[in-house]
Amino acid sequence: MTSLAAKRVLITGGGSGIGRSLAHRFAGAGAEVVVCDIDASAAREVRARITARGGRACAVTADVTDASSIARARQQVLAEAGPIDVLVNNAGIVHGGPFLQVPLSRHLATYHVNTLAVVAVTHAFLPDLLARPEAHLVNIASASGFVGLPYGSTYASSKWAVIGFSESIRMELASLGHAHVRVTTVCPSYVRTGMFDGVRAPRLTRMLTPERVADLVVRAVLKKRAFVLAPWIVGVTPLLNAILPRPVFDAVARAFGVNTSMASWRGRPQL
Ligand code: NAD
Repeated sequence: MTSLAAKRVLITGGGSGIGRSLAHRFAGAGAEVVVCDIDASAAREVRARITARGGRACAVTADVTDASSIARARQQVLAEAGPIDVLVNNAGIVHGGPFLQVPLSRHLATYHVNTLAVVAVTHAFLPDLLARPEAHLVNIASASGFVGLPYGSTYASSKWAVIGFSESIRMELASLGHAHVRVTTVCPSYVRTGMFDGVRAPRLTRMLTPERVADLVVRAVLKKRAFVLAPWIVGVTPLLNAILPRPVFDAVARAFGVNTSMASWRGRPQL
């Protein structure tokens, strides 16, 4: 789409971090924003800030791991606002640490929020996107979807799956003649939101800001880009991963500090 004016954008996990920045950027570009989050007060606060600045927004509470909650959210959006033109699957969680020291429930929760919910929310809202004259699906994956991530094995693999899902849907929509629904997969390295507090960013990369990621995503939607890869080194990672022999790739990853970046992860304090 070439303009976001008169478009409606739903952002899961819109109450915090990258989702909150996306909400502000999309609203600033003229879109009406549906801030969707499991944290009702966070979603309401983002809505209030947007409307206080003259933007258009509403807040919807939903747990994206619960299909009935997603269905209720969709009904609420249709009743109170109308069909969406852009869906951003952004909600995500991480539980870092040595694999066996992280309880199984947390590993499985990571897949529920980061992967299964992306499938479920897309399944619920894709009919609305298909019915619009032009529409866009944005899936927030991660640079860790291209590499192994020690101490973040289920987080990284949940994002590998999102990249595969997102690319497959993009090609499927095009092959079914639904070229009016574009798809963008977003793969940033570490972003300063609190989710990855304690990590050491790999060499030649620095922590991105959520505002920078939001700018790149809005631009990608307007330019119909299939990928957002940031910073630049993320763009060459899949190539290196594909062509280098395993021991050489492992040595490069070690040299850049990819293998150790999560070793010092603490994240946000557990509630
Ligand atoms: P964040 O923790 O600041 O925000 C995540 C939001 O998702 C929160 O508002 C939370 O309430 C919401 N959420 C969590 N579980 C939910 C559920 N079951 N239902 C509905 N909402 C739920 O995190 P962030 O750093 O802004 O991350 C946003 C996305 O970007 C995630 O998918 C994350 O994996 C991805 N990402 C983050 C980084 C980073 O370094 N922060 C890097 C690459 C990709």
